[in-house]
Order: sequence, then structure tokens, then C-alpha cells
Amino acid sequence: MSKRLGIIGFGTMGSEIALLGACAGMDVVAYDAFPEMFEKNLKRLPKVLRMLARDQKFFAAAEIAEDTGREAVIARISTVTEIKELAGCDAVIEAAPERIDLKQKIFGELSEACSPETLFATNTSSISITELAAMATNPERVVGMHFFNPPSAMQLVEVIPGLNTAEESLEAAMALAAELGKKAIRVKETPGFVVNRVLIAMMNEAITLHEEGIASIEDIDTAMKLGAGMPLGPFKLADLVGLDTIHHACEVIYNELGRDKFRPPFKLTQHVKSGRLGRKTRHGFYKY
Ligand code: NAD
Repeated sequence: MSKRLGIIGFGTMGSEIALLGACAGMDVVAYDAFPEMFEKNLKRLPKVLRMLARDQKFFAAAEIAEDTGREAVIARISTVTEIKELAGCDAVIEAAPERIDLKQKIFGELSEACSPETLFATNTSSISITELAAMATNPERVVGMHFFNPPSAMQLVEVIPGLNTAEESLEAAMALAAELGKKAIRVKETPGFVVNRVLIAMMNEAITLHEEGIASIEDIDTAMKLGAGMPLGPFKLADLVGLDTIHHACEVIYNELGRDKFRPPFKLTQHVKSGRLGRKTRHGFYKY
């Protein structure tokens, strides 16, 4: 069992993964290059816990039912301003911005700070685990742990080995995901892993159908909700995720696999160029 969990990057993903660690009773040590992110995101966490407390199936529901329990959980998260302060962690989950130079630098520094037994996990959505691991002195301890947004609510973690990841690291990552209350699946290294490969192909097909004038955006969403049992149609979902994020995922998968179904559709590129990025800009395929 991981007793001391390190988190790198206390943003959207990192702050909630830290919270899950604290809910599991771990001592969590969080590092962020911009300390103002601690204040911003720590403020958000009590609200997240209150929401989770309403779900009786949440693994820490009993503890967080009361104010004192929620305070105790958040008190298990300590913040640091240097990577070397993550020494002593059994596992570290990196959730810094999606830039390879930045993540490689982090993995180099982590290798110097931590013991060779520490598990290093990255929450990257699109960068090669093998390429990141190449910067660590112990690439066999590096593994992908892909959480979904918001990590507090989404049940899945994709666990991905790089070329040099040891089987025991993969098993440790599967066990860590379970300790954090998640269902983990093993996925071989491939751009987009499983969820984004399927999702991007589906969203691209929906956009192409619309471009061809086969059906309206609203009708395609209705079709996929009522005919395929999706809780959200592909256009609503794309707006929620962010059209720039979808566009980037298309490019990464298309560049690597060269399959036409992943090429960013014209209308998607056009929306991104115009600044219509979905819910976050209050205008995407829909207006908000
Ligand atoms: P974010 O921008 O919300 O958070 C990133 C955090 O990293 C910020 O707090 C930032 O201050 C900090 N940071 C910046 N430079 C740093 C550095 N050099 N060292 C340490 N911290 C640094 O980003 P996010 O959405 O939480 O994404 C983080 C990672 O998770 C990315 O790799 C992303 O691809 C992946 N991811 C994101 C989502 C999502 O929907 N947001 C889903 C799955 C995976």
C-alpha cells in the first residue's frame, strides 16, 4: 500500500487526485511550480468532498459525511515548493501541463530526489510513456496512469506501460488506482489509449456527418442519446471537453497512426481558429 503519495502539478487533475489519496488515508505531498495554485485549488476541495459525501458508494463516504472528517481529509495534503521535498514518497503522480520538455525535466529531477523504488506515474493524455521514462534514471519504475476529468467522479484509470516499464510497476499502479477508489484497466502504449481512440473516431464521424449535411448537430446528438444510450451526444460532449483539447488529440493520434478517421475535421479546426472552444468560452458547437 502507498502510504505517502506525491503529486506534481496541483491543477484541475492533480488537486483532485491528491484529494483521492487523502480520502484513502495517505499522506499526500503536493508540488506545484506556481504556489498560488495551492490556494486556488485547496479552496475548491471542500466543495468536491461535500459532493462526494452525497454518494453513499464513494469509498470514503463514511469519513467525509461530517465537517470534521472532511477537514481531517484535507489536512492530510501538505504542499511543497521544491521537487526534492517529494523524497520519501512511495509513489508520485505527475499532472503538470501537457508539454514534453516540461515533463521530461520533472522526471529527471524526480529521479535525483526519490529512491529507485519509488513508482513514477504520469497522467499524460498524449505523450509517449516510453519517451518520458527515457529521462528517468529508472525507466522501469515509470508508468502511465490516465485519470479522467473530474478525477473525483470518473471511475476509470487507464494504466499504460512504456517499453521499459517493469511488470511489478504496472501491478503497483493497478493497486494504487484501486486504493484511490478507481477501476483500472491495462492498456498497451498507443496514442489516445483506449478511451480517446474510440471517442475521437466517434466525434470525428459525427462532425463529418454534419459537414456532409446528413443531419443537424442537435439531431446527431439526439440520435446518439436515444439510439445508442449515450448520456451526452458527441457535440455536447466535445463542447464539454473543449474543442482545442479534442483538436490536439486528433492531431496526436492522426500524426502517429496516419489513419484518416483521426484527421481533424474542417469544422473542428474552424471552430478552434475562431476561438469557439466549447463550454469554457461559452460558445462551441452550441451557445451557452
Ligand atoms: P492544469 O493546467 O489544470 O494544471 C497543471 C498544473 O501544473 C497547474 O497547477 C500548474 O501551475 C502546474 N505546473 C505548471 N508548470 C509546472 C512545473 N514545471 N512543475 C510542476 N507543476 C507545474 O492541467 P490539467 O488539466 O490538470 O492537466 C494536467 C495533466 O493531466 C496533463 O498532462 C493533461 O494532459 C492530463 N489530463 C488532463 C485531463 C483534463 O481533462 N484536464 C484529463 C486527463 C489527463
